[in-house]
Amino acid sequence: LIDTIGRIDVLDLGYVELVDSMGDEVRILEAARKSFDRDVRDMSSADEGLLLRLALQGHNVHRHCVMTFEVKAPLMVAREWWRYVVGSDHTIMGWNEVSRRYVKRTPDFYRDVDWMAGMAGTEESLTDAYHRYIDQGIALYEEALRMGAPAEKARLFLPAYGIYTRWYWTASLQSIAHFIRQRSDTAAQAEIREYAAAVRRIVEPQFPITLPVLVGGTL
Ligand SMILES: Cc1cc2nc3c(=O)[nH]c(=O)nc-3n(C[C@H](O)[C@H](O)[C@H](O)COP(=O)(O)OP(=O)(O)OC[C@H]3O[C@@H](n4cnc5c(N)ncnc54)[C@H](O)[C@@H]3O)c2cc1C
Repeated sequence: LIDTIGRIDVLDLGYVELVDSMGDEVRILEAARKSFDRDVRDMSSADEGLLLRLALQGHNVHRHCVMTFEVKAPLMVAREWWRYVVGSDHTIMGWNEVSRRYVKRTPDFYRDVDWMAGMAGTEESLTDAYHRYIDQGIALYEEALRMGAPAEKARLFLPAYGIYTRWYWTASLQSIAHFIRQRSDTAAQAEIREYAAAVRRIVEPQFPITLPVLVGGTL
């Protein structure tokens, strides 16, 4: 799976990539069958019904499957993503992010914004103004570094929301499905919806029976 799927590009410079994964649908069955002191080595067609029921009824067996992703996304997306704490707890499980206290390299910015302003000419002028704002911020940042300011302070000049950051996210299948469900909804911000779709494209081949039910909540 890791080799065949690889990295999925999102927005202009972002991506989601599977770093590692533990467990599959046989693991979910194994966990469920422990109630009867039974082991499961292979999946039979009869097991599909059990997988569907487990997903539908919200059992905790999905917590035995864990995945690590590398994500590169604008900070505004990272802030929304960071809110998923149950099953992706940032202290117990994992979230490790680029620190702009230590990295001085000029960052990437999310520039190719679809403003959805709906008025002819508006998009272009917003994009021009936004790009000027980014470029001015970068110039001030680099000047502050040249003047001897430490990176942790110089970063105050960088326009924050559009700055690309990169992190590792480790979470259980239950938590990942919760993230996909909430952030695929039309109420979610357009950019994070694209990331949710990318995560889903990576996860679904490994959990083809379970994930649609966990995300959709119905058979
Ligand atoms: C469209 C959208 C708009 C949003 N707008 C805002 C906003 O304006 N401002 C803002 O601050 N946040 C906003 N959020 C973030 C939102 O409030 C959640 O923090 C975020 O979606 C994570 O969801 P969660 O708490 O369910 O996830 P997790 O923290 O991972 O929790 C997972 C699940 O565990 C259970 N759980 C977690 N904690 C508890 C608890 N203490 N007690 C009982 N059960 C618990 C719940 O079932 C919960 O759904 C928005 C989210 C979305 C999708």
